[in-house]
Amino acid sequence: MEEKQLKSLESILAEPKNIVIVPHVNPDGDAMGSTLALQHFLKAMEHNAAVITPNNYPDFLEWLPGSTGVIIFEDETERAKKIIAQADVIFTLDFNDLTRSGYQMTDVLKESSATFVMIDHHQEPERYADFMYSDANSSSTCELIYDFINRLNRIHLITVDIATCLYTGIMTDTGSFRFSSTSSNTHRVIADLIDKGANNAMIHENIFDTKTPQQLRLLGVALKNLKVIEEFQTAYITLSQEELNQSGFRKGGTEGFVNYGLSLKGIVFAVIFIENKQEGIIKISFRSKGRFDVNKFARAHFDGGGHLNAAGGKSGKNMEDTILHFESLLKKYHNLKKK
Ligand code: 5GP
Ligand code: MN
Repeated sequence: MEEKQLKSLESILAEPKNIVIVPHVNPDGDAMGSTLALQHFLKAMEHNAAVITPNNYPDFLEWLPGSTGVIIFEDETERAKKIIAQADVIFTLDFNDLTRSGYQMTDVLKESSATFVMIDHHQEPERYADFMYSDANSSSTCELIYDFINRLNRIHLITVDIATCLYTGIMTDTGSFRFSSTSSNTHRVIADLIDKGANNAMIHENIFDTKTPQQLRLLGVALKNLKVIEEFQTAYITLSQEELNQSGFRKGGTEGFVNYGLSLKGIVFAVIFIENKQEGIIKISFRSKGRFDVNKFARAHFDGGGHLNAAGGKSGKNMEDTILHFESLLKKYHNLKKK
């Protein structure tokens, strides 16, 4: 964001405002970390700030400071609508297209006359916001929130709670600081967040070491279903609704499964297909290493998007047909073919 725009936004935020902060549907660590961090920050600036998520967030994020105050649009629609109607400013975080707020909430947001501020790190942002704080080179929206606070000269307002939320989002979106999006700036921000009280060991434990035995067993099923297509340096996993039901699946219970495909030597493209009978879709996650662009792949074939190396999408076909379609697509991508 240019300095002039930032000053203009700063002047809007100079007086107490009613503010709503929205992450994307099925919010992840970065989405929840950034919205809650921003809420704590805006409250410290004397604003009235509410976080409204399109739907529920996964269990492994329940401990995040402030999460108990989150309003879930899907569960408390009327209350959420009222708060949105009163908003002077709406921040949309960790997404680049208003439809990512979920089909129910998007229409309500579209009707709002509030000032929209986007803070996001996804490629090819749509221009729906009045203020765009968008940088596709940033590791995470949380890193951008830190940057935003810094540019407002308010680093001193970063509390332990804000530091904890921001650390969590940066850590989850960078795969614990290992993806290529992790820069020296990311590490400098992380170092400062630890100085401000983020307890890194505790955060890692809360996120990664809170699984149930059933979840680990579901991982076992997923790995059993792993299919490797060496010719195209690709590996994919499928999970049917039945397999999910048998493990007592809950939201977020398959987080990170897709990455196992990439841990295979020589694999540059990993995918997981997860059946959702209720919605009548197969939810798909794409991950890649190097230059194979899964954002483009997801946009072109599976009604999705994301980043160069991490994207999502969906299919309206059944699992078998989705897989057939997927496998047939691989042949088109010569850069996947093993040399
Ligand atoms: P995940 O596979 O973990 O759901 O998502 C990976 C990345 O792609 C995240 O940054 C997420 O925001 C984005 N993403 C996931 N699903 C979709 C989708 O359907 N559309 C778009 N535009 N982005 C998605
Ligand atoms: Mn993100």
